[in-house]
Amino acid sequence: MSQFDYDLFVIGAGSGGVRAARTAAASGAKVAVAEDRYLGGTCVNVGCVPKKLYSYAAHFHESFDDAVGFGWTLPAAPEFNWATLRDNKIGEIKRLNGIYGRLLEGANVRLINGRATVTGAHEVQVGNERITAEKILVAVGGWPWTPEFPGSEYTLNSNQVFDLETFPQRFLVLGGGYIAVEFASIFNGLGSESHLVYRGDLFLRGFDQEVREFTRQEMGKKGVNLHFEANIERIDKVENGLNVTLTNGESLEVDVVLSATGRRPHLEGLGLSTLGVATQENGKLAVNERFETSIPSILALGDIIDGPELTPVALEEAMHLVAHHYGDTPVEPLDYAHIATAVFCHPNIGTVGLSEEAAREHYNAIRVYSADFRPMKHTLSGSEERCLMKLIVDDESDVVVGAHMVGEEAGEVIQGIAIAVRAGLTKAQFDLTVGIHPTGAEEFVTMRTPTRC
Ligand code: NDP
Repeated sequence: MSQFDYDLFVIGAGSGGVRAARTAAASGAKVAVAEDRYLGGTCVNVGCVPKKLYSYAAHFHESFDDAVGFGWTLPAAPEFNWATLRDNKIGEIKRLNGIYGRLLEGANVRLINGRATVTGAHEVQVGNERITAEKILVAVGGWPWTPEFPGSEYTLNSNQVFDLETFPQRFLVLGGGYIAVEFASIFNGLGSESHLVYRGDLFLRGFDQEVREFTRQEMGKKGVNLHFEANIERIDKVENGLNVTLTNGESLEVDVVLSATGRRPHLEGLGLSTLGVATQENGKLAVNERFETSIPSILALGDIIDGPELTPVALEEAMHLVAHHYGDTPVEPLDYAHIATAVFCHPNIGTVGLSEEAAREHYNAIRVYSADFRPMKHTLSGSEERCLMKLIVDDESDVVVGAHMVGEEAGEVIQGIAIAVRAGLTKAQFDLTVGIHPTGAEEFVTMRTPTRC
């Protein structure tokens, strides 16, 4: 019999923690999970899920406009009710919370409601209870971070913005990453006057340059007010809202300021620094490919270790972690190189592999194939929205090393293309694939002439 109360004690019931707990339990391990907030973590409660629901809501706005060219007459100007969206969203998340609870129960995992602290290499404390475990998995995720400036206390973060009491007629978001472009698009689509303030010359640093420029053009056309090379100097409360002074001298009056300036590992008070668990310069926990920290019985995954802060990455890390620690056969380390991602700004971005700029650095010669076109739907809708598709090919091997799209349902399209890029298929193999007509996605197999080399 084991000398410990549990084989695995998981701290945090987010995507990664729950997946690791269930999978380890299915492999025969005795598992407990401690969670002091909501089941499902950031993704389910204040991230991917509510964001996508709000993004759907925002897209309706354009759909109503688009419908007219197809012969539809709307009986009256459609009206948006924020409380309905918000409360329906709350109901759906409650349902998902329940599913997560039942999944753990069904897997025979003990769920403890409380904040756990790690008190030893094999010991945690939750409330008054001391529990021992052969391995402890820290899967507590990240937490939004806001810079300090005069009036920064008036900003909201992405945990708070979903449940606003009243709809902001004037909305401003600070930042140029995923959350900033997504929320600028969402509130714009829902009918707010929407502003995005970013300190650099162009948002979405690290993405393909052409994708960034195209997105700027399309978001601008949809009415988002983009303020680049600017930061917030101060925020003052005024009678009808918040007065935001920018470093470029501009001044904007809005109802809500969202700070989307990144997330940090949520490790405070966990006891890890007292135990001397090693962190990296960026504050994330250092782990090896078995997800072991500097104290090998303490494991970590998800947003608190290096790598993209994405739910599917945490899920895959959980599967690998369990295979390493509870599986019968050795597993390869997780491949982080071909992780596709989507940004749900309007229009959406989907991307996998290298940007054109990164590919030029990696390879002696590349070929770039691109198409910038008006989707068929908009020939009748009257919308000016355009779509960008782009393939980056290593000239020597002919392998497609990057695929990018900005346009409707780009995430859905790129998910399929990601399999081909992950498999290392060549441009010739893309060309052999017969397209599906009429779709936008067929462009990915019909682009024959390089745009540039
Ligand atoms: P990001 O790290 O993506 O972006 C943070 C932004 O804030 C950057 O533009 C950064 O600028 C800017 N910034 C940082 N510090 C300051 C400062 N002091 N003053 C002004 N601006 C500043 O973080 P997000 O908060 O947008 O999202 C967190 C993570 O969550 C993402 O990286 C992503 O991994 C994940 N996420 C994924 C989504 C998806 O898959 N669709 C959706 C939402 C989030 P600079 O670029 O100059 O450093």
